[in-house]
Amino acid sequence: MWTNWARTASCTPTRVVHPSSTDEIAAAVVSGGRVRARGSGHSFNDIAVAPEVALDLDRWTGIVRADTETGLVTVRSGTPLRVLNADLHRLGLAMPNLGDIDAQTVAGAVSTSTHGTGAKLGVLATAIAGLELVLADGSVVTCSRSERPDLFNAARVGLGALGIISTITLQCVPSFVLHASEAPGRLDAVLEQFDDLCAVEDHVEFHWFTHSDRVILKRNNRIPEPAEPLSRARQLWEYEVMENAAFGAVCKVAKAFPRYTRKLNEVCGSLISERSYSDYSHNVFVTPRRVRFVETEFSIPRETLMDVIAELRAVANRLGDRDALIVPCEVRVAQADDIWLSTASGRDTAYISMHQALGMQYKAFFDAYASIAASVGGRPHWGKMHDLTAEQLRPLYPHFDDFLRVRDEVDPGRTFTNPYLDRVLG
Ligand SMILES: Cc1cc2nc3c(=O)[nH]c(=O)nc-3n(C[C@H](O)[C@H](O)[C@H](O)COP(=O)(O)OP(=O)(O)OC[C@H]3O[C@@H](n4cnc5c(N)ncnc54)[C@H](O)[C@@H]3O)c2cc1C
Repeated sequence: MWTNWARTASCTPTRVVHPSSTDEIAAAVVSGGRVRARGSGHSFNDIAVAPEVALDLDRWTGIVRADTETGLVTVRSGTPLRVLNADLHRLGLAMPNLGDIDAQTVAGAVSTSTHGTGAKLGVLATAIAGLELVLADGSVVTCSRSERPDLFNAARVGLGALGIISTITLQCVPSFVLHASEAPGRLDAVLEQFDDLCAVEDHVEFHWFTHSDRVILKRNNRIPEPAEPLSRARQLWEYEVMENAAFGAVCKVAKAFPRYTRKLNEVCGSLISERSYSDYSHNVFVTPRRVRFVETEFSIPRETLMDVIAELRAVANRLGDRDALIVPCEVRVAQADDIWLSTASGRDTAYISMHQALGMQYKAFFDAYASIAASVGGRPHWGKMHDLTAEQLRPLYPHFDDFLRVRDEVDPGRTFTNPYLDRVLG
């Protein structure tokens, strides 16, 4: 039985295949039955569920070719981001932007529109220069801006609905050092300067302790080398002890005594201290996440961020102690792009993600957030918890029907569908 990281989705496929070549991927695709590729199971919903044939790409990893002059790197789709980042670094290259963790596979990450933060940077899939896919009939095709552009626009964020991505060609950048600055702050003060910060900082985000006005403001900016990383001892203390072990203990207390969740959330916010360091980008973007949680996230038009936060504040005050969230919410931004189902498609975007420790109540807050997001045209993260259907999603994406047209062309028999795709694509 397969279960995702958050333990919110599981399935027992009739067959699990571990291909180690494009031919083996193609053979599995045409062998009969519905087929889903698996990433590393880090989506919070059932998008990766494979009721029939599951393609586990754990033997389909590594860089195929790299041009250090142009930065174009072709990678096998099952490569974990952690491995990709290390391999790129050895070549003097890096991904232009990353999310909070590196456990995802490269294909899994781009397929759900995974993103980091940066008002002048796009979601991870915007780094894709070309794709090789195995289609439902077993054919192997390539696409890029100039070759089969419709397939390219659909498949960069393809939800696993169009075919199995076998390789991805990424436009990487020379490796770079980030200066990281993390500081406690107050929500109103941060909101007041947020637009200005987005304009001048390379990467800016804040974590809001939802039942208080406390935030951690994180700013990461590119600087010339050398890096001055946190010492091993400090990394161990800050990441493993404080952010994981101690925070895990706080979550356990909140789970055992939910009436104290609100208070604990506020106390955690008051204990934040400043830290600054510099390191190679992948070491700054990514931190270990060992405390398991559930998560929902909507992308909203950037200009609606203040209104949405104000409404979430009202919800946080209104809901009872048992519905309070122990994990802070995270606010990030991304630049508009031209990928049909990217959550930043056609609009500069702010992301607000709400989390709750596993085993605690989250539905009242998540549902309230979903209706607030709906009122401003919020688009759910494809890999996080939400209840939207194709009818509700169509008006949110100008190219939704273009995506369905390409899907009809390349997978008329719905080889690659599953219950999640039936819901979100119809
Ligand atoms: C702790 C944690 C932190 C996270 N942080 C962030 C973050 O900072 N930013 C963010 O945006 N998201 C974040 N996420 C969400 C995560 O990035 C996405 O859900 C991502 O899709 C997970 O990748 P995966 O490899 O686990 O793929 P899976 O969840 O296993 O699969 C996702 C989708 O990709 C498809 N897929 C996988 N491989 C292929 C292939 N070869 N061809 C075609 N389709 C394929 C699957 O069929 C499925 O549809 C986080 C999740 C967790 C658990």
